[in-house]
Amino acid sequence: MTFPLALIGWLVIANPAPASAIDLRPSDREQVKLGQQAAAEIRQKYKILPARDPRVVLLRRLGAKLVAQIPETERKRTGFTFTFDLIRHKEVNAFALPGGPIFFYTGLFERFETEDQLAAVMAHEITHVRQKHWATSYADNMKRQFGLAVLFSVFDVNQSLASAITIADDVAFTIPYSRKQETKADDGGYDLMFQAGFSPTAMSQMFKKLGGEKTDWLSSKLSSHPDTSSRIKRAEDRVKQESRPMPAPRRMPPAVMAANAADKIRK
Ligand SMILES: [Zn+2]
Repeated sequence: MTFPLALIGWLVIANPAPASAIDLRPSDREQVKLGQQAAAEIRQKYKILPARDPRVVLLRRLGAKLVAQIPETERKRTGFTFTFDLIRHKEVNAFALPGGPIFFYTGLFERFETEDQLAAVMAHEITHVRQKHWATSYADNMKRQFGLAVLFSVFDVNQSLASAITIADDVAFTIPYSRKQETKADDGGYDLMFQAGFSPTAMSQMFKKLGGEKTDWLSSKLSSHPDTSSRIKRAEDRVKQESRPMPAPRRMPPAVMAANAADKIRK
């Protein structure tokens, strides 16, 4: 794994506190900048489906419903802007970049039978961003890999943060979330999707559905996701405790199913 040394330097300079108290987490603004740069690289590197594709239309419609639940004050304070893209690729995965860009692969997208199952994964990813899990994992990694003494010796103050970051792959893929962060993203995702009017039963359904397959989203080589059976149980327990009325899940629109089927024929 390669880390941009200038970024380390920048973080140390920006935090003139005793070594033990240094907060290595990139700020909200830096997360936004980093996420946007990485997203631009991903959009160049992969086949991104056009905005008119019915699957992208759906992804963005559901995304808008979920994001509308985030308090205005939080959005203003962080400056996080959520965007939703669909990559045409067989990988069964989805991921969020710091500051808000979220990407789905068609390999995962075509597994969903209801809008609510899709919304469950989206709400999980949105929660990773809102709770700044990437920034925390990044800081933890830095401390582990370098140690604070090394941090002080390697930085190069002449490079700007922006020029140092050409690391889309690192940002997106090589910093794993902790098991605790995954559980938090499940819990926060559950709350968000329910608030937005989706059926919360979809969360456990989705885990069950993906649990039997080889999916990077549930158990990537890099991440330490909690085991699927405990995630199913946690989501089911929450549903059992609900007193609020549950909306019925909505099936995927016919145009989305048709687009999925057409893609399969083309393969
Ligand atoms: Zn996750």
